[in-house]
Amino acid sequence: MNQVGGFYPLKRMMYVCSYMLTLEKNPLSDRINSLEESQTIGMSKLSRELSAKGFDVINLSLGEPDFITPDHIREAAKKAIDDGFTFYSPISGFPELRKAISAKFKRENNLDFKPEQIVVSTGAKQAIANIILSLVNPGDEVIIPLPYWVSYIEVVKLAEGKVIPVKSPIESDYKITPEQLEAAITPNTKLFIFSSPCNPTGSVFTRDELKAFADVLAKYPNVYVLSDEIYEHINFLDRHQSIAEFDSIKERVIVVNGLSKSFAMTGWRIGYMGAPKWIADACDKMQGQITSGTCSISQKAAEKALTSDLKPTLEMKEAFRRRRNLVVKLMKEIPGWKINEPKGAFYVFPDVSSYFGKSDGETTIRNATDMCMYLLHKAHVSIVTGEAFGDDHCVRFSYAAADDRLVEAIRRIKEALEKLK
Ligand code: PMP
Ligand code: GLU
Repeated sequence: MNQVGGFYPLKRMMYVCSYMLTLEKNPLSDRINSLEESQTIGMSKLSRELSAKGFDVINLSLGEPDFITPDHIREAAKKAIDDGFTFYSPISGFPELRKAISAKFKRENNLDFKPEQIVVSTGAKQAIANIILSLVNPGDEVIIPLPYWVSYIEVVKLAEGKVIPVKSPIESDYKITPEQLEAAITPNTKLFIFSSPCNPTGSVFTRDELKAFADVLAKYPNVYVLSDEIYEHINFLDRHQSIAEFDSIKERVIVVNGLSKSFAMTGWRIGYMGAPKWIADACDKMQGQITSGTCSISQKAAEKALTSDLKPTLEMKEAFRRRRNLVVKLMKEIPGWKINEPKGAFYVFPDVSSYFGKSDGETTIRNATDMCMYLLHKAHVSIVTGEAFGDDHCVRFSYAAADDRLVEAIRRIKEALEKLK
């Protein structure tokens, strides 16, 4: 029988056909094809593109302090370079840094995470991904209050878990109740993820509210908790409260935190977790295959930040409080926007749905995404659609910007909204 290039003719034809079919299909994995781009980052990209064309865009889309990292932390990084901290670090971080984080947990949160229960990562983002990928099996259910921070659901999707959103409306200050939490729990529930102070709503759970969640969770020993506390120091109520403080569930709580927000260190990429040792070990293994230890120089800077006086952090918090008051006052004057008063973080999450169906004669606002695009193009103010956070009636406005820019942004928004009839 004839053989062509090692194939029988029929086989070869089939091979060529199937090859041509794969060329037509997107060759990327289903995993990446089903992943959404982060809309906080996407919107910021659009705003930068518009700025590059010469427009004066006020970018309030990315959740990032506008302050530069405090001097003593930057000095520690320079010293780390001069002292030769230029090699790989242990996967979970330098021992001195893990010790400093363990001491911070004790001092500020009254939590007992030993250094071997700490994993330092490339931002809290990686800590969250490590935890979800380490705990969630395909089909496991993950309860996430809605509105949620963008990346939680996408990483659960990567892990092939099933997101169970639990909706909390503006009328309840965007806070779910313990009854709602309990109603969402099934035998397949693996994880409960929430942030307090919350991105995108700025809501903060009180100790009593966290205790009520802990009382529910105590009844379900197979459910773990990922408590995202990255806005810990931007809390306008009182001392930060962690759900890990309750004895009944503390063995099942993983606390995620980081230096991006509290120390204005977004670019340094330092996040961390305090976790039961077996989860910390799993995350160390995951990280060891994907990134290794995070930047050695940033780690030395983080050690300095966590072992120094919190004065700069507290000053930034006061600036955020002042801006919160300013923005809430001005936004209440925008006709038709419904506002909650955020108690922490640096976001406001107004309901803008009263504008849906209105038009300026050129653009019709059908949803929150249209509202954001309208404001970007007509007012040159960049904010993020609530759709990214699971609520398409709202938009997220970051007030981590200079006071005069915030005032100008709201003036422009009002002016653009007046044209919608
Ligand atoms: N969690 C929340 C709620 C956030 O808003 C952010 C913002 N970046 C992160 C985690 C991740 O922070 P980072 O990776 O910069 O530490
Ligand atoms: N966490 C910030 C935000 O929500 C930064 C962007 C991001 O990491 O997605 O805007």
